[in-house]
Amino acid sequence: MTPALSNLQINSDRLWSTILETAQFGGTPKGGVRRLALSEEDRQVRDWFRAACEAAGLAVSIDQLGNMFALRPGKDAGKAPLGIGSHLDTQPTGGKFDGILGTLAALEVVRTLNDAGIETEAPLCVINWTNEEGSRFAPAMMGSAGHVADLPLAEILARTDAEGVSVGEALDAIGYRGEAPLGAQKLGGFLELHIEQGPILEAENLTIGVVEHGQGIIWYDGRITGFESHAGSTPMHLRKDALATLSEIVLAVETLAVELGPNAVGTVADIAIARQSRNVIPGEITFAAEFRTPDAGILAALDKGLQAAVARIAERRKVSVALDTIWRKEPTHFDPAITGAVAQAAQKLGLSHRPMVSGAGHDSFHLATIVPTGMIFVPCKDGVSHNELESATQADCAAGANVLLHAVLALAGDGGKA
Ligand SMILES: [Zn+2]
Repeated sequence: MTPALSNLQINSDRLWSTILETAQFGGTPKGGVRRLALSEEDRQVRDWFRAACEAAGLAVSIDQLGNMFALRPGKDAGKAPLGIGSHLDTQPTGGKFDGILGTLAALEVVRTLNDAGIETEAPLCVINWTNEEGSRFAPAMMGSAGHVADLPLAEILARTDAEGVSVGEALDAIGYRGEAPLGAQKLGGFLELHIEQGPILEAENLTIGVVEHGQGIIWYDGRITGFESHAGSTPMHLRKDALATLSEIVLAVETLAVELGPNAVGTVADIAIARQSRNVIPGEITFAAEFRTPDAGILAALDKGLQAAVARIAERRKVSVALDTIWRKEPTHFDPAITGAVAQAAQKLGLSHRPMVSGAGHDSFHLATIVPTGMIFVPCKDGVSHNELESATQADCAAGANVLLHAVLALAGDGGKA
């Protein structure tokens, strides 16, 4: 690589101004963004993004789920494009960085290459995935799930929001039900820049997270059926107390996650006691539980351990406990060639970095099931995300975009300028 190329930097002010400009689409008084998938605000940011991509010389195509692909040709048209991007939708009270940084940084990489007159060997494809957040339509990471055929198109289009509007109707309403068949845009790899959404980089005063793994996850729906009876006249040994049963299950989840740690977490939440009264022993409770870990063996052990603990607790307390696994996703392992390129880019740019596990889910988890994939993290203030207070510094956003740029040059080929 020539010195000029190895010193190439994205335009930090230009990237920052696009982040501020797009934050107006659905901007909230508290400085956050409310831009639900396929809403009017989503249409506005999509129109902006399409125009910006076209102005940068990219050919934009839209698939049947509204996923947006902006193609930049390479020297070798026979090579599959390297995908770069993220998502532009937000949580109902979201911030202006989650997803947006990765999408706009991908655009900034292209603008930088244009300015420098660099044509990569492999084509590049700047991507905006539809409905990553999943707060209007479930599940999350919907567009990328469709792209990798994790869910069938018809099933996704039929999913409805709280008002009964289907994904298909919402796509039509904003004019983003595209012609391109789902999955037709072939990619040679995918790389996503994202804020960490956790506290580790900030706590360790580091700039770049080289994401090597994504958490596997199991979600359970639980129902405990005991027996409601008088709180004053029922002796302790004759009770079938659903809440006391749940308290043991909560501790079993916590104990398992601690014992099989440090890279395992377990949570019980969303608890509802039926027909509550202060002088009735709780007889029926529903709850949600989950485990997450980047290790497939530990995920299996957590599941087995919880099933066994629940069976023991239920038998001893003579209550019935139904524990349904409603979602299970095995851990993601990102591609060593891509994570290696990310680490090398950070090294070359003199940026502090460390390997990381992603605790949150991302479109990249889906992409990793079909093509070599990787992620870059940058710090966010206090680790806060999915909140209007979500914040990241201009310097960190620019650092992440520069790592993206140099990883792209390494992975897509710098077009013989070396
Ligand atoms: Zn995100």
